[in-house]
Amino acid sequence: MPGPSVIVGILGLQGDVVEHVAALERCGVETRVVKTQEDLAAVDALVVPGGESTTVMRLLERFELRAPIIARVKAGMPLWGTCMGMIVAAHDVAGLTQPTLDLIDITVRRNAFGRQIASAEMELAIPALGPVPFPAVFIRAPWVERVGPTVDVLASVDGHPVFVRSGNVVATAFHPELTGDDRVHRFFLSLVGREDAQRTAA
Ligand code: GLN
Repeated sequence: MPGPSVIVGILGLQGDVVEHVAALERCGVETRVVKTQEDLAAVDALVVPGGESTTVMRLLERFELRAPIIARVKAGMPLWGTCMGMIVAAHDVAGLTQPTLDLIDITVRRNAFGRQIASAEMELAIPALGPVPFPAVFIRAPWVERVGPTVDVLASVDGHPVFVRSGNVVATAFHPELTGDDRVHRFFLSLVGREDAQRTAA
């Protein structure tokens, strides 16, 4: 686990920022809400939280953060997208032409689970986190429709990937920051400063 000298950023343009700050601080790292290029330059890893993807993709352009985030992640900075963050990090989004960050080779579909789990908590098997199921909270969640060859699927619901990783980029369709179970946060932090976490995707 990285020490207190590690600073983890949470993209703070819109969305579930405070819950991630609290979870990361429970894990013993320093946090910084990222709204400017200067904030981004100060962090060692970045979380893109839940929120409204079409709004945040617009704001990333307006705050001139899109290109600098892409450059940092391509240089090895770990990035984790939760829910909206999964959409923003994806290669593309079914039915949407707005440009994403294109940092992980997946195609996602927004609000994909329909009404039955528009908002639900379920016990999700995630072998990479150990034998105890994870209390996964879904809120108008996306799912992954296509995974590229460099992408590992760490958990699925009804055959649809909801937790994926490619090198230093991690994406979850659910919201670990809302549960008090910090295992996904710790999994993400384990990638910070590790050479073998370097991006493998093309
Ligand atoms: N449905 C939202 C979107 O498409 C994501 C929901 C969330 O992040 N909780 O942007």
